[in-house]
Amino acid sequence: MNKPNFAPLKLFITGPTYIRDDVKQAALLPEFGHRDTENDLRFGPIRENLRILAGAGAAYEPVLFLGSGSTAMEASIRSLVAEGETLLNVSVGAFGDHYYNIAVANGKKAENLKFDYGQAIDMAVLEKKLVELKPAVVSFTHNETSTGVTNDMKAVCALIRKHGAMPLVDGVSIFGGADLDLANSGAAMYSTATQKSLALPAGFGIGFISREAEEKSKTVTCKGHTTDITKQLERARKNQTLTTPNCTLANQMCVQLERIVKEEGVANRFARHAEMRGMVEAWVSRLDGFEMFAPKGYRSPTVSAVLCPAGVTTGQLKKGVKESLRGQGYLMDPGYGKLNAALEAEGRRLVIRVGHMGDITPDMLAEYLGKLEAELKKLQ
Ligand SMILES: *Cc1c(COP(=O)(O)O)cnc(C)c1O
Repeated sequence: MNKPNFAPLKLFITGPTYIRDDVKQAALLPEFGHRDTENDLRFGPIRENLRILAGAGAAYEPVLFLGSGSTAMEASIRSLVAEGETLLNVSVGAFGDHYYNIAVANGKKAENLKFDYGQAIDMAVLEKKLVELKPAVVSFTHNETSTGVTNDMKAVCALIRKHGAMPLVDGVSIFGGADLDLANSGAAMYSTATQKSLALPAGFGIGFISREAEEKSKTVTCKGHTTDITKQLERARKNQTLTTPNCTLANQMCVQLERIVKEEGVANRFARHAEMRGMVEAWVSRLDGFEMFAPKGYRSPTVSAVLCPAGVTTGQLKKGVKESLRGQGYLMDPGYGKLNAALEAEGRRLVIRVGHMGDITPDMLAEYLGKLEAELKKLQ
């Protein structure tokens, strides 16, 4: 059989991410029937290891949705915002807006509180809004992939709780790359996916569902089918999925999570991500005219956004730098499209991103930053 000739690019984007060879090999493990006892052998360890990685304890039930992170987010909206209730969404960038748009697309009464690109959630402004709007549910982004900003998840949840609302958290691009301590987070539901810091192919949205969310979902009507967390939980507790799973991905996920928890160790994994954030910070501080976009204390351990010198254009980044690096075997991220378009229109400096999530190692990152630096120097 003729194999297609696809270029083997090393991905330094923000998802999908680089996949290790042993995880690719795990795709060759046997397929299985989705209502057979074989499910326990995959989804049993998967769910146990997900709990460990999240620090979820027994307080949250992990659920795998067929789809992606957005599927889990949509389920949180459909199952946990009741008719007549108001949802406040808090956005610090493109993915914050994404959660809001999902709510609006599902006919929910929603308001979007937006902060400027590159900033974290301002707690005083949020508190004022909570008092004024009195929302039943508040959604926000833990790690804003478009700007490299990590919000203080626990503090934001605590503030939302103080005002009697239920926090829904989008953790798509940070889960697997940082300690969540979910059991003590205050989140009612935490959504994530396989293809970012878990370094797997896309295919499952992952939801961590609290008992409180489970109870509320029972009272909400018109939840759809695959977005109904009550139905999802019933199957998840049997180590099954509500609809037919991607068996290939389930095998890979089983192997990858065992490796993360039993071989690499979750603390080592989180430390590796923090180390790579430090590497990018040190690299940027040596580069003339470049700066970290996110404020210190709110910089993501999985994706760094870097402000370019004034005058750099999206054309230079997308056609020049990105294509040059492709020729050298790397897929570069020339910035989140809509964000750079907005910044360019406002005459502001553009942002590039360095994805350092999942199974990227400090050695791989060092090599990539060297190549990227050579290309960026050509801009000046
Ligand atoms: C990638 C991403 C999403 C969307 O996830 P999909 O898996 O593509 O549906 C949502 N939120 C954040 C923060 C992301 O990084």
